[in-house]
Amino acid sequence: MGHNAEKSRTPEVTTRLRLHITTAAEARVRAGHPWVFAESVREQNRNGFTGELAVIYDRHNKFLAVGLFDADSPIRVRVLHRGKPQTIDPAWWTARLAAAVGRRAELFDARTTGYRLINGESDGWPGLVLDRYGAALVLKIYTAAWLPGLKEIATLIRTRLRPERIVLRTSRNVQRTSESRRPRGPDRLRSRQPADEASSAHLAAGGHRHDLQDGRMLFGSKPRKQPTFLENGLWFEADVLHGQKTGFFLDQRENRRLVETLARGRSVLNAFSFSGGFSLYAARGGARSVADLDISAHALEAASRNFDLNQLEPAVAACPHELVQADAFAWLAANPRRQFDLIILDPPSLAKREVERPGAIRAYARLAKLGAARLSPGGLLLACSCSAHVSAEEFFRSVWQGAAETGRRFTGLRTTRHPPDHPAGFKEAEYLKAIYLSEG
Ligand code: SAH
Repeated sequence: MGHNAEKSRTPEVTTRLRLHITTAAEARVRAGHPWVFAESVREQNRNGFTGELAVIYDRHNKFLAVGLFDADSPIRVRVLHRGKPQTIDPAWWTARLAAAVGRRAELFDARTTGYRLINGESDGWPGLVLDRYGAALVLKIYTAAWLPGLKEIATLIRTRLRPERIVLRTSRNVQRTSESRRPRGPDRLRSRQPADEASSAHLAAGGHRHDLQDGRMLFGSKPRKQPTFLENGLWFEADVLHGQKTGFFLDQRENRRLVETLARGRSVLNAFSFSGGFSLYAARGGARSVADLDISAHALEAASRNFDLNQLEPAVAACPHELVQADAFAWLAANPRRQFDLIILDPPSLAKREVERPGAIRAYARLAKLGAARLSPGGLLLACSCSAHVSAEEFFRSVWQGAAETGRRFTGLRTTRHPPDHPAGFKEAEYLKAIYLSEG
């Protein structure tokens, strides 16, 4: 693939980038962890360029792993392969794509056309996500290391999956770093090559700064309207060009399905509703009423359109649907008399960084308390967290504590984690957890 910098090599950088890392990092990589942090790099034969392959050797100078080098990220190498030496060539990438697609082969029938095809590190594609929304694919990258090889990856995906279009989305850090890319070595390494010369050679060769931006098409034409797709037989639209993540929260599919089975006859509050996913399932499951509560008018408009898309479903057509635009914390605190039989709390990540963890744990407890206080007798509470920095145990504890502070009694029904199309193969990848409580 091009991102091994084959094409961008100048005579100065024809040697393969070789790294030696600390003993602790070596042990982690051997155990299957996909990241090597900058501070773990002990030795480097030359400066590395974002997007080239780096080969990691162990302390006996034996091949340990090969990965994508990122000069601008504290995660300096993302491991692609470890174990025996391996050539990373087009055939290898083809097999790796087939493996990820194959893992989903038995998961969905024709009633679900929106799901994750590649979930980053846990599928062997570190920092890369591929989601399907009907005939549209959205490829999102979380590291600039994918940029040089992206067009070839897109060709591979086109050939294998035959989509109508592939949309590129880039995380904020990729948008930032592609502005100011520089080769990087460990601090103690003195390069014989002037950094400026190297970086301009790389940028000139890469040539991807302008055409590989967030929302660009990697293949096909820009969609005139938002693509629609099916999830368990319900229609949704995905805001693939501008929406959060890749345009929809595919990771909550199984919780939505569970809510459908719990909703019959209940009045439902869907707090942090986004485009109404939980409400549509609740409505189809026979809810007496559903209310979507979100701070964003844009999200609520999408919820309204998603209800329109499903009017052929009798239970959806029959279910009163209310839209409330408000801050969920404030709204729950301010309306103590209005009760619901089923409350869903699915806030955005409350701890984006490790330092925010203690505050997030308190916020989850406060939110659970606010929700638990608004349940009718026998009501159900579903509390979710997508903060990777808060562990499942910490989150469950804070929900229990918040609920207990209402002075009411609760029974734990179940907890859930990642759905199978969002595998989480290492600790940092485990962000999603949810707990179901019943009042009384
Ligand atoms: N449950 C949704 C996903 C929720 S994403 C689903 O299944 O698709 C989180 C949502 O919370 C976003 O739509 C965001 O607009 C909303 N949000 C963020 N802060 C909020 C707040 N303080 N009050 C209410 N909604 C908020």
